[in-house]
Amino acid sequence: MNQEICEGKLIENKKYVLNGEIYEGSFIDHDGIAIVQGDIKLGKTKDVLQFSEFLTAYEELGSQQKNACLIKKNLWDTKEIPYCIAAGHKKTAEINTAITTFNSAKLNVSFREKKSEDKDYVEFVKGDGCSSYIGKVGGKQEITLSDKAKVGNILHEMLHTCSIEHEHCRSDRDAYIKINSDNIKPGYEHNFKISSGETYGKYDFESIMHYRATSFAKTGTKTIEPLPKYDPQPNMGQRNAMTATDMDGVRELYK
Ligand SMILES: [Zn+2]
Repeated sequence: MNQEICEGKLIENKKYVLNGEIYEGSFIDHDGIAIVQGDIKLGKTKDVLQFSEFLTAYEELGSQQKNACLIKKNLWDTKEIPYCIAAGHKKTAEINTAITTFNSAKLNVSFREKKSEDKDYVEFVKGDGCSSYIGKVGGKQEITLSDKAKVGNILHEMLHTCSIEHEHCRSDRDAYIKINSDNIKPGYEHNFKISSGETYGKYDFESIMHYRATSFAKTGTKTIEPLPKYDPQPNMGQRNAMTATDMDGVRELYK
């Protein structure tokens, strides 16, 4: 089972903000938290729904102006991400390995243990799926990890926390992959929307941020396929390690 797909109640046709851009579509309510793309936290569902109403009302005013706070990128400006691990977390050893791996890669941003004066920080908590916010939210924010999370799943979520989105949602992805819309489980189409985020480096099929061929697919089908010109067809969805391009992307973001 894919650890980065949180199940829950589908909530359709809402507006929400992700990485400073306004989107319209569906999300999943997973234990009171709104989630898109399987593992990206938007916030408490009740807050997201309230904000959706606000955005709708705001747009109905006919204003073309966007609020400045909606378009800023949510980077960790100190280039340090304070963290703590929930007491008794079963994945403590794996979290520590992921943090050592991340920090030794010298990515211009690092995770360090939270001090009492830190206001903005990440807590690794337990849940029945894995998920994270994109970038810094402000205050405490959670990275949720299931008991089945491997070091690679944890690194994937940590890169979301650094403000990295899914590789298959890059704006140039259609030059590399084909999305088989007919094979997507009904209600999950929003997971394949192209993101407005900037792209860094070449498209990386083997990125730790790429989904696998069968993500959100109807049984026995594929939702994502590399274009036929890629022969042999590259593997997608590995969770063993960050690739060189994954690491360069983070370095670029925090240079
Ligand atoms: Zn993800």
